[in-house]
Amino acid sequence: MASDHGSRAPRYRRAIIGLAVLIGVPAVVLALRLVPWARTGAPQHARVIDWVRNGPGGHGAWRVYGGNRCTGAPMRIPSDGFIGYGWNDEIHPGRHHSGFDIFSPDGQENVTPVFAAFDGLLTREADWRSAVIIRHPAFPADFAPLARRPPAGGVIWTYYAHMASADGATSFIAPAFPPGTYDRPVRAGEMLGHQGTWSGDPAKPVGLHLHFSIVEGVDAGGGYANETAPANTYDPAPFLGVVRDGDGVLVCGAWEPDGDAVGDAVRHAASATSTAAAPGASAPTAGSQPPP
Ligand SMILES: [Zn+2]
Repeated sequence: MASDHGSRAPRYRRAIIGLAVLIGVPAVVLALRLVPWARTGAPQHARVIDWVRNGPGGHGAWRVYGGNRCTGAPMRIPSDGFIGYGWNDEIHPGRHHSGFDIFSPDGQENVTPVFAAFDGLLTREADWRSAVIIRHPAFPADFAPLARRPPAGGVIWTYYAHMASADGATSFIAPAFPPGTYDRPVRAGEMLGHQGTWSGDPAKPVGLHLHFSIVEGVDAGGGYANETAPANTYDPAPFLGVVRDGDGVLVCGAWEPDGDAVGDAVRHAASATSTAAAPGASAPTAGSQPPP
């Protein structure tokens, strides 16, 4: 009896331990993935929902001004609003963001302009209804953040998405850039279109914002990497001169002084007509995989 009992008990314990490992390991792995999301994602979600529903309101300090340049930055801020999600932010558990999401202060689509961040050559593929991408052969290849991964041929691209209506039927891209546009020269600060809500799925529009990313070239000429993978993109912060404030909000450290015609006109007009978002705006969904 004792020997029988003695021989069964270890097998029983082994089975329990095995079951615990089977259930416990995935639970721990999931928890470890949720912890950073809860820590860094949740406050961002709350701020974005507040901004989309209530407008800039008391959060004027969060606002950046499209077309302007933060002091010392090589690129212009590509649109007006609140940078609700930054580069590499974990918007959904396990899914990291490849760029900046700049949420409109205007509360309605096709109002908030989108600007070229830097001189370059614009492409809009034939089937792109809401996005354009600009190649920047003149961007200084010795800009320090590019040392992270030397871009092929020193070429980087900037990508701008969500410029269409919620159902995708109406594009808000400027008429100068019809589908099938390749290598059309644009200047920094040139207006590309207006913010929209097209997500790629008419049933799930995004909160009104611009998705902006800085993408690696795959060769010295006309190729660009898949921008939905953060590994193929750069943190836009140093390119735009944006920093995190004490609460982790991405803001402009200091605006370039007056005398910059393109930026100042926009910034002054924006501050003169402080706007509120339309009430009842739906909660945003983040465009971590913005559609073209
Ligand atoms: Zn985005």
